[in-house]
Amino acid sequence: MKRAVVIIMTTILAVLFPLNAIAMDISSDNIMVRVMVMDDKDSVCIAIKSCYKVMAKDTDRVVMDGPRLSAKVLATKDGIMIGIRELKMRSIEIVSDGKTKISVGGRIFRGSIEIIRKENGKLMLINRIALDDYLYGVLYHEVSHRWPMEVLKAQAIVARTFALFQARQNKNKPYDLRSDVYSQVYGGSTSERWSTTMAVNVTKGKVLVYDGDILPAYYHATCAGSTESASNLWKTDIGPLKGGILCDYCRISPHYKWMKEIPLWKVEENLCKGQYNIGKIASVSVLSRNSSGRVDKLEIKDDSGVSVILTGKDFRQLLGPNEIRSTKFDPSIKCGSLILEGYGWGHGVGMCQWGAFGMASQGKKAAEILQFYYPGTEIATIDQIRGRF
Ligand SMILES: [Zn+2]
Repeated sequence: MKRAVVIIMTTILAVLFPLNAIAMDISSDNIMVRVMVMDDKDSVCIAIKSCYKVMAKDTDRVVMDGPRLSAKVLATKDGIMIGIRELKMRSIEIVSDGKTKISVGGRIFRGSIEIIRKENGKLMLINRIALDDYLYGVLYHEVSHRWPMEVLKAQAIVARTFALFQARQNKNKPYDLRSDVYSQVYGGSTSERWSTTMAVNVTKGKVLVYDGDILPAYYHATCAGSTESASNLWKTDIGPLKGGILCDYCRISPHYKWMKEIPLWKVEENLCKGQYNIGKIASVSVLSRNSSGRVDKLEIKDDSGVSVILTGKDFRQLLGPNEIRSTKFDPSIKCGSLILEGYGWGHGVGMCQWGAFGMASQGKKAAEILQFYYPGTEIATIDQIRGRF
């Protein structure tokens, strides 16, 4: 019944909110992504309330099955223990019959769960899931499900594009995406909401392309005035990510301006961990900024005159991306603390999510939002670029 309602509403919304002239009969159902959802775990509880199978990853042979599963999984010397059964293998896949989802440590997941016993004797868990099922669990974490449908649609297209790009980049690695801020935040089925699911459904199969290829669709929370060039951060220098887009739409963002106070001993400790050789900090000054106003190079001097120079990006990474929300800041020292008066949240490349919200609030459509933040790109279907990933 719930599914029927979703299908009917999806159809209505597709009519009410057409994205562009592209037909809606595109399928991305058969594209799977591998999302690392847990790492370095000693044990984890897994439950499935309907029939399940456990397969050996290397042979696809069924090594265990049953009408339901509720067991603690842990690594042993030679393999993986599920409940009281030891499987002498390095990697297994747990599959539900589809009637119920899989509970992993209290979080609910669609798709299947691969468990790898790592060399260090710990467990890594990878959720193998259809692309759009994955997006259902991403959108809630990336934007507010109460935002206008046009910004949710823009986010769905960007997240789908980003996931496909990452999957291509990482195809020889054990997983395509992480479930945290280093890829896209993914909470599994527990994080699905009606509006965000709808946004994924009405944009089904749609991705951003540039020059006929999938776009590295980076995005961030708030640019605070101007987007950043991708070439300042990564080895990519394509037209749509050249940055410098003046964005006034994110002025409404709660992250537009921030202030952070970090005790100097903490900065010194982190510099030491990062192998920077410096004593008691005496001054922190900006040596250069890039054209978007973000810190390019930062000089930190100690009380004996020794100084280290590091990039704004490395400095943010060293202190933690959530401690220092962006590299657009003015530093000063007061009473034994480093004071940062900063602007925006995130690396600043690509779509500014709060700016996209501002645009949608002013009546702009998803396609206009995407064209604004990724100039020169087109919305295409996955089928049109299938040979490119
Ligand atoms: Zn912005």
